[in-house]
Amino acid sequence: MNEGPLHPDDRPESSPESTICPQADSEAARRERLAQIPVRQRSIFRRAWAGRSRKAAIRAACLECMGYQSAEVNRCTAPACPLYPYREARL
Ligand code: SF4
Repeated sequence: MNEGPLHPDDRPESSPESTICPQADSEAARRERLAQIPVRQRSIFRRAWAGRSRKAAIRAACLECMGYQSAEVNRCTAPACPLYPYREARL
């Protein structure tokens, strides 16, 4: 059984939080998500969620995209991705 985050299309339409970014402000949702993130990378996500670091937000998105494998972010081969020029930003 897949227990990862729900794809937006799989969320129930009747959910009061099924808007553009469901549960975006939910601390419970962030705690749940944080539990799936490697410990050494959690501070990046905390900084991104705090809204104080665009670099952290980009890094977090890229880490998530690449399965939390930092070296894979650096080797990304998707130049069409809008984050591509920013993916190696050092924190
Ligand atoms: S730049 Fe690469 S690693 Fe970052 S989100 Fe885009 S595809 Fe994923």
